[in-house]
Amino acid sequence: MITLNRHLPGPHDVVIVGGGPAASFTALFLLEHGIRPLIVERDSFPRFHIGESLTGEVGGILRDLGLEADLAARRFPVKHGVTVYGASGTNTFWVPVMRRQHDGDLTSTTTWQVRRDEFDRFLLETAAARGATVMKGEADGVLREEGTVRGLRVKTAEGVEAISCRILVDASGQKTFLANQGVTGPKERGNYEKQVGIFSRVTGAVRDPDEAAGNTLIFYQEKHHWAWFIPLSETETSIGVVVPGEHFSQSGKSTEEFLEWKLRNLNPALTARLRNIRFTEPVRTASNYSYRVKNFTGPGFVCVGDAHRFTDPIFSFGVFFSAHEARLAAAAIRDVLANSTEREADPFAEYEATCDFGQQVIQDVIDFFWEYPLAFQMMAHKSHKGEITDCFAGRVYPAHQPSDAVLTMRRMLERVRSPRPEPVG
Ligand SMILES: Cc1cc2nc3c(=O)[nH]c(=O)nc-3n(C[C@H](O)[C@H](O)[C@H](O)COP(=O)(O)OP(=O)(O)OC[C@H]3O[C@@H](n4cnc5c(N)ncnc54)[C@H](O)[C@@H]3O)c2cc1C
Repeated sequence: MITLNRHLPGPHDVVIVGGGPAASFTALFLLEHGIRPLIVERDSFPRFHIGESLTGEVGGILRDLGLEADLAARRFPVKHGVTVYGASGTNTFWVPVMRRQHDGDLTSTTTWQVRRDEFDRFLLETAAARGATVMKGEADGVLREEGTVRGLRVKTAEGVEAISCRILVDASGQKTFLANQGVTGPKERGNYEKQVGIFSRVTGAVRDPDEAAGNTLIFYQEKHHWAWFIPLSETETSIGVVVPGEHFSQSGKSTEEFLEWKLRNLNPALTARLRNIRFTEPVRTASNYSYRVKNFTGPGFVCVGDAHRFTDPIFSFGVFFSAHEARLAAAAIRDVLANSTEREADPFAEYEATCDFGQQVIQDVIDFFWEYPLAFQMMAHKSHKGEITDCFAGRVYPAHQPSDAVLTMRRMLERVRSPRPEPVG
């Protein structure tokens, strides 16, 4: 159980809503700039969270923050790459975890698979140990002055607190706190909004041998029907299936029955690995997880990670966006505080444009994968190996994109892109 420091009512330079990866990474990067934020998290940690496979660039960010030894000490499985098995267990392709050196060459590196209860607590405790203040409470309102966000109303065990700040960071994840408060622009449905994820953990799953034992495996069947296999310790594996919600509801099965049924028939290469499994966790679900919030920065506020967008979990980008956007947000906040520009119309416009750029690359990669799985396999396997490796790692910003691979995908997608998203609710 994390020890929560006593808070102060403010004014604070920065207050962060949420205590997940987006919040802790933002805090850790702010601390590197000498800014000590207040973090407001409503849950007691450790708590369960889905999202266990990290991309290569997250591994790099964790190393940059000096956390490699701590992750190794926790014995999180080491991930060298992802194998994607096509329908019927064929058309398989492999994407290794690699980093780009300064001269542009790709070299092998590794990242981790993490149990999020432990990982999120570790990040939050590290932020606190390095100088952030963490308080337990639920953000339930925003303080505003002439259109500028000036602070937060927080419900705590003792009552309601008003906490003032110069900049409010929304890292509340899928709760999209500032969107719900009407501070940001509208929240729109994403392309994968009708999908449902049904998942648990098992022991007894058959892994690849030797150093490949920690890798992520993805199995797909028909369009939008797929499963993940993510090693979480020497014995436990995270297993999940994702399908259109309608397919689940029409099955008439309970979540437990549905998961067991799909693990048996979704893809033979998956079934072969699960003959002697035992479930070690309850079966959980995630639905309506795909959305996008418009205008997610403005005077006195900025959103990071799931608080403004989540597309789909198939290639494990969620924690990556939280970590990378945290680094960008912290640098932007440092500049805004130094120049006292937090009340200007949109002090974080550049940050917002960069986030949208990267998120759009991934949206296009995922859309393309489902529209043209065989072309995708050819690109990953042969014609655009390095560029697909870049995308899977998280090199999705202007220094690396749009690559020839992404331009090709966009050209082909123009014929099939989904209609404009509808507003939620
Ligand atoms: C089925 C599925 C599988 C996934 N698999 C992967 C994967 O393999 N790899 C990957 O990288 N990502 C994966 N993701 C995505 C990943 O879970 C998220 O992108 C990631 O957790 C986002 O981090 P975050 O910090 O933005 O939000 P969160 O981790 O959700 O943290 C938000 C925090 O804010 C707190 N909070 C919310 N509202 C308030 C409030 N009002 N006041 C105070 N605190 C509040 C919450 O309690 C929570 O602790 C998956 C997602 C789904 C749906």
